[in-house]
Amino acid sequence: MTNLVLFGPPGAGKGTQAEFLKKKYNLVHISTGDVFRHNIKNQTPLGTLAKSYIDKGDLVPDELTIKLLNAEVDKTPTAKGFIFDGFPRTHAQADALAGLMQSKNSEITAMIALEVEDEILINRLLERGKTSGRTDDADTSIIKNRITEYYNKTAILKDYYTAQNKYYGVNGVGSIEEITIRLSSVIEGL
Ligand code: ADP
Repeated sequence: MTNLVLFGPPGAGKGTQAEFLKKKYNLVHISTGDVFRHNIKNQTPLGTLAKSYIDKGDLVPDELTIKLLNAEVDKTPTAKGFIFDGFPRTHAQADALAGLMQSKNSEITAMIALEVEDEILINRLLERGKTSGRTDDADTSIIKNRITEYYNKTAILKDYYTAQNKYYGVNGVGSIEEITIRLSSVIEGL
């Protein structure tokens, strides 16, 4: 299996790139943000709970997020591999993911990070907010809180995967096609 963690701050372009990469490499794309939004749209109990965190730009608690991720992975037992987008976002989530992969006699192959400066991120997210209908993209203070959550809780995962020799950084500024090429060259070198 090839199991990739696509990493980077909010607005780095993970979801956009995952759409291309999943087709190119025949991997199952799991975006925890998309699963939460699907639950919010369908007004499930999980969605209602998650919404209270997401609307503030806070992370959803680990226990809930890990359960949701496990259930998503279980939906495709025949997958050749996964692209995890937006997960893990904390140390506990990374440990849980390692355990889950191990239970499938597999492991995370690589974390590939899209590197983009904060100022560009804020502009991209505000721009996306004009059409996405995402309440967490509409307001600068919520966006800033998401970026703060990223630096406080998520950015440390660079060290986590670097210690396992699995971290690859890619410049996330450029055209969508250029960035897909950069990511592909990392994936093909794995
Ligand atoms: P972005 O990367 O643009 O912030 P996502 O769609 O990945 O967008 O996530 C949107 C929101 O969903 C996050 O701000 C957070 O509240 C919640 N979320 C998504 N994934 C996780 C996760 N792994 N752990 C905790 N919260 C999460």
